[in-house]
Amino acid sequence: MRNNYFVKLVRYMKNVYHLERGLNKLSDGRVNPTYSTGQVILPVLFGFLLRIKSFNELNLMIKNNEFSKLFPRGTKPPSIDAIRDTLKVIDLDGLKHVNQQIVKTAVENKVFENGTIDGYMVAAIDGTKFFGSNKKSCSECLKNTKGDKTHSFHSGAVMSTVGLGPKLVIGFEMYKPGQDSATKDEGELSVGKRLVSNVVKSHRKLIDVIVYDALACNSIWINHCKSLGIDTIVRAKNNNNNSLRLARNMVNKTKAVEVWEHEKGFEKVEVFESTFTMDNVEQPLRFVKFAIIHSNKQRTQIMMVTTCMGMALKTLFKIIRARWDIENSIFNNLKTECGLDHCFVHGGNAVEAVLYLIFMVSNIMQLFLVRRLRNHFTTQREIVRLLLKGLYLLKYRAELVFSSS
Ligand SMILES: [Zn+2]
Repeated sequence: MRNNYFVKLVRYMKNVYHLERGLNKLSDGRVNPTYSTGQVILPVLFGFLLRIKSFNELNLMIKNNEFSKLFPRGTKPPSIDAIRDTLKVIDLDGLKHVNQQIVKTAVENKVFENGTIDGYMVAAIDGTKFFGSNKKSCSECLKNTKGDKTHSFHSGAVMSTVGLGPKLVIGFEMYKPGQDSATKDEGELSVGKRLVSNVVKSHRKLIDVIVYDALACNSIWINHCKSLGIDTIVRAKNNNNNSLRLARNMVNKTKAVEVWEHEKGFEKVEVFESTFTMDNVEQPLRFVKFAIIHSNKQRTQIMMVTTCMGMALKTLFKIIRARWDIENSIFNNLKTECGLDHCFVHGGNAVEAVLYLIFMVSNIMQLFLVRRLRNHFTTQREIVRLLLKGLYLLKYRAELVFSSS
C-alpha cells in the first residue's frame, strides 16, 4: 500500500483537504433520492482525477466496479443516469464552497507563504470558450447567429494564481446570455468585474495583484480594482484610449530608464516608463514599455498600465509575462488532458457543476503534485497512470472508504 498513489491521493484529499466533509454537505433538487448528492458526485470527481474523456467512459468504469472501494461495503455506486440528473439540479453554491475551502486550506497550509512572484500574490484572469454546438443548446447558452445557422456555446472568465507554486483556480464566472443589451450576451469586462468582486468577497486579502489583458485597460476596470483594494496590471495596446496615447507619446520621447542584458533568455530589454493620469481615474497610473530584443534579433514590445506605483520594474516584467500561465497551465492543459472543452452533460446547472468539478480536480492535482509529491513527476500523465494502477491494485486489497455518508 505504501506506494499506492491512488491511496496516497485519497488520504491527501481526506486528511489535508477534508473533501468528504464538503461533499457530504452538497445538496440538490431531487425528490427522495436513493443516493446522497455527495455519493453521486464522488465517481465524477474521481473520474475527472483519472482523466475520463466522456461520461460513457465513466459509465464503463462504474459498471466494471472500479469505484467500489470508494463506497461503504454493500453500496452500489450510482448509475450514470442518476449522475446526469443530479448534476442538472445540484446546488452550485455547495460546489463553489468546496472549491473555496480547497483554496482556503492551501493558504492556511502556507502554500503561498512567499507569494507567487517576488513576494506578491498574483492572479490572472482570462476568458475562454468552453464548448459549443450547432445542434444542442440550453437556456444558458450564448448564441452566435450567422445567416440561418446558430452556434450555441458556453464561455467563462477564470481566475487562477500565476507565477511560482501550484496554479490554483480561485474562481470562475460564466458569461450570461442576453445581459448587456436585449440581444447581446454579457461582455468579458462585466464578467471579469463580477469574478473579481466574488473572489474578494470569499477570499479577503488573498490577492495583491491581478493581471489582465488589454480589454481591461480602461477606467472601468482600474476603478473597480481600486474600489476592492486590489492592484492591477493590464496589457496596453496602441489605441486603447486618448490619455494612454499621450502617455505612450511621452515615453517614446524619453530615454530608457533601465536596460537589461541577457534577461530571462532575451538578448536585451529596454524599459521606458512614465506616470500619467487616465480619463475618469483619480489616482495617477504608471505606463511601462518593455522593448525586447530576442536572441534571434527579433524585436517585440510589451506595454502595460498599472496601479502598482512602487513595484520594481523587473517584478512588473515577471508578472506581465506570467499572465500566460493561465493560458498554458489551466486552459491548454485542462482542454487537452481533462476535457474542459467537452460537454459532458448539458442543461440546468450541469455545465457549471462539471466546470466546478474539473477545476476542483485540477486544484487538488496541482497541490498533490507540488506539495505531497514535491514535483517528483515530470509529467501529469505519469501520475495518472500510477493512479489508475493504484486503483486497480486496490481491488485486491482491504476496503478503503472515501465517504461514509
Ligand atoms: Zn447550453
